[in-house]
Amino acid sequence: QADERESMFLVTTYAQQYFEKVLWKTETGKAIGLSYFKERGFSDDTIRKFGLGYSPDQWEAFTKTALGDGYKLEYLEKTGLTIVKDGVSGEKKTFDRFKGRVMFPIHSMSGRVLGFGGRILGNDKKAAKYLNSPESDIYHKSKVLYGINFAKQAIAREDNCYLVEGYTDVIQLYQSGVENVVSSSGTALTPEQIRLVNRLTRNITVLFDGDAAGQRASLRGIDLILEQGMNVKVVTFPDGEDPDSFARGHSDDELKDYLKSEAKDFIQFKTSLLAKEAANDPIKKADTVREIVQSISRIPDRIQREIYIQECASMMNISEAVLFNTLAQMGKKHG
Ligand code: ATP
Ligand code: MN
Ligand code: MN
Ligand code: MN
Repeated sequence: QADERESMFLVTTYAQQYFEKVLWKTETGKAIGLSYFKERGFSDDTIRKFGLGYSPDQWEAFTKTALGDGYKLEYLEKTGLTIVKDGVSGEKKTFDRFKGRVMFPIHSMSGRVLGFGGRILGNDKKAAKYLNSPESDIYHKSKVLYGINFAKQAIAREDNCYLVEGYTDVIQLYQSGVENVVSSSGTALTPEQIRLVNRLTRNITVLFDGDAAGQRASLRGIDLILEQGMNVKVVTFPDGEDPDSFARGHSDDELKDYLKSEAKDFIQFKTSLLAKEAANDPIKKADTVREIVQSISRIPDRIQREIYIQECASMMNISEAVLFNTLAQMGKKHG
């Protein structure tokens, strides 16, 4: 089992080097992959730092090269880099999973290559924009945070971790001098991912893409962070912008000022988001209050809970007594 995993790491390490070499050294890699990253505003240093690459737009360019270099099909398949199918006459057919995509290696905390995210070029609506390595013995999506190996020192130093939605948000922020940044890369945030951060800091600042759907969906993730006793702040971006596009459109100082000045306490954020939806409807307002108190009930620290109740009461213009009652009814969770 341990040997299996080591064999898989040999393959992912080899693949990362292969994709990187294709990006920098081949004509199509340079013309398609490298110029794509440059158009997105990534510098050479950044592209190297994150080990970005390009997977040729051929059915089995990677698989053939890897087999030729002595890697076993078994491990190419187990890491998900190669897809194996039965052909019409019973023979095996192999395909590169990431054919024609720019490649983002996904690292463990200690910097080993666990898997990849691959993005199609352009905005072809037919294929999935991003494709990830499948779950395997070395890649467990729910336990991985993209960028953690590059961010860990900065997270400890700044005593704060920025959490963003995507790969390119991590890279663009890092390049803009905000190095304490990680991403859950499209999957809903999990307790294991939060625990990774919790080892380094008790403070998380969530940066949402500027679209309401995303914000609503991410509220659940905030509750999970609160449950681990961490402090949560939230920064939103103008409609249609994400941290990547915002960072590109502003200077490093403007970005840092924005992150500082726009950071809202989670309760302010949740209250204002839900209050907007409830408007003047008393029934909706009651639901909103219950939902917020529900979040507060997840906070392990009693004093912190009380402070949040006071804040919510004043923002929603409701008596604290009513909120404490509601909290007491829900929260048999903590003493
Ligand atoms: P880009 O700027 O390259 O268009 P993004 O990071 O802004 O990408 P979003 O659409 O905001 O992309 O999605 C956030 C993250 O969700 C992505 O970085 C990726 O990890 C994941 N994701 C997005 N689309 C898909 C998809 N079709 N399949 C799987 N994961 C996806
Ligand atoms: Mn989004
Ligand atoms: Mn985005
Ligand atoms: Mn984006």
